[in-house]
Amino acid sequence: MRRRRTVGPVAGALIAVLAAGTVMASNFGSNTASYLTPAHQCDTDASSQCIANNGSHFWYPYNVTTNLLAATRTASSTYDAVTDVATYESSSSSGVDVIVMDDPTNLPNIVAWTECADGATTGGTDPNAYCVPQWLRYDLSDTSAYDTLGERNSIACQEMGHTLGLRHSSSTSSCMYTNRTTQAGLVQHDKDELNAHY
Ligand SMILES: [Zn+2]
Repeated sequence: MRRRRTVGPVAGALIAVLAAGTVMASNFGSNTASYLTPAHQCDTDASSQCIANNGSHFWYPYNVTTNLLAATRTASSTYDAVTDVATYESSSSSGVDVIVMDDPTNLPNIVAWTECADGATTGGTDPNAYCVPQWLRYDLSDTSAYDTLGERNSIACQEMGHTLGLRHSSSTSSCMYTNRTTQAGLVQHDKDELNAHY
């Protein structure tokens, strides 16, 4: 603990530093080299990180267990609350932006991921490279990732965020935090990035 008498000047210095540091790095965009090295094209590979082509986000639950469907719906409502994004659960795969499914692929250290679907339409250039539709895959072989409501909601929030173009966040309060978390929500920075893009 710091000594009490240093609190005044130290606090003043910290406020100045924090104010100068409020310009945060972008956590939005497709695979520029600075995000993934090497940069990865929009394709059917779990390394793909490509944005959606617009903020109207239609998703179709192709094959999803009940609790992950519920988590996906929670994520959808989370993003629907972002000013410039609208999400819709579709009853058909036709023309949707995201196709959601369970997949027991068991990729090392990955509990869920997104990638461009087979035959996806691609366009744009980094950091605005897009593909539609995208697959959102939950790896059910990693059962430990899905045994609490918080984990499921957080994973669904992060994966849907990826399909909209959000990258990982350094904020532990965001579902876009790099490592596994039980935070289901977005932080203001995530919302600002989405609203700035769409
Ligand atoms: Zn992620």
